[in-house]
Amino acid sequence: MKLVYSPRYLEHENPPEVSGRLKAILSYVERSKLPVKFEEPKKIDEADLLLVHSGRMVDELKERSATERSEPENPFTKKTFEIAKLACGGALRAAEIADDEGFSFALVRPPGHHAGRDFFQGFCYMNNLAFAVRKNQKGRRALIVDFDVHHGNGTQDIFYKDESVFYLSVHQDPHTLFPYRSGFVSENNSHVKNMPLPPGAGDGEFVNAMKEGLKAARKFGPEFVAVSAGFDSYSQDGIAELRVAETKTFSLIGKEIAKLKLPTFGVLEGGYYLPDLGKNVWGFLSAFL
Ligand SMILES: [Zn+2]
Repeated sequence: MKLVYSPRYLEHENPPEVSGRLKAILSYVERSKLPVKFEEPKKIDEADLLLVHSGRMVDELKERSATERSEPENPFTKKTFEIAKLACGGALRAAEIADDEGFSFALVRPPGHHAGRDFFQGFCYMNNLAFAVRKNQKGRRALIVDFDVHHGNGTQDIFYKDESVFYLSVHQDPHTLFPYRSGFVSENNSHVKNMPLPPGAGDGEFVNAMKEGLKAARKFGPEFVAVSAGFDSYSQDGIAELRVAETKTFSLIGKEIAKLKLPTFGVLEGGYYLPDLGKNVWGFLSAFL
């Protein structure tokens, strides 16, 4: 299995979205002698960022990076723009490998699913997964599965009017969690399916929601799958109130997605409980061996 990674992803710090997250995953991979190979992210053209983001926003990100003008949830250093761009390139490389080999995963930071066409927030700068879907879509119908505990409001924003992309998200009810203003059932349409779960929902509810969501998504007739893989629904994570207690749940979600038998790539989103992050990420990945 090929994982896409660059040590440059460690050069960005935004607690709790820290470089230690990737280090924890890498050290688990090493300790467990897992059957993986590492690939470099793809170099991308800045102009291609306009496939998913407005020129205004890209300019703002560059300017903030050059002048280190931070927001509370989104700090900026001189390196921020380049590293965020490299995360888009990581997702794209994973998408390409998935087309050739069936599956790949991008171990990238910063995450992306809260970055919309014209906004960035929630530790996210550019939408890595949306960029890879759009750049590598080639006229195909795409299914995006987002199992991060937070609704991927940026991804929904980018594809909301695009009937060639189905967006399925299982997340904690946004009445009770960031991003608060998006992720409700009332926003659903023929190709957007939000499945909010109440605080306290655990392993069984999560897997059942995913099974039901994937049943609807299958009818859409997708030709490839992109997964926003967040591990912050984990009970020990501390950032939200869903209560996924078992690594096996992430494996079961992976297995349900693998049953579609389509080229599939995953992109790392959230997940902040470092002692078990590697184990949980591998729980998901092992479904695609
Ligand atoms: Zn999250």
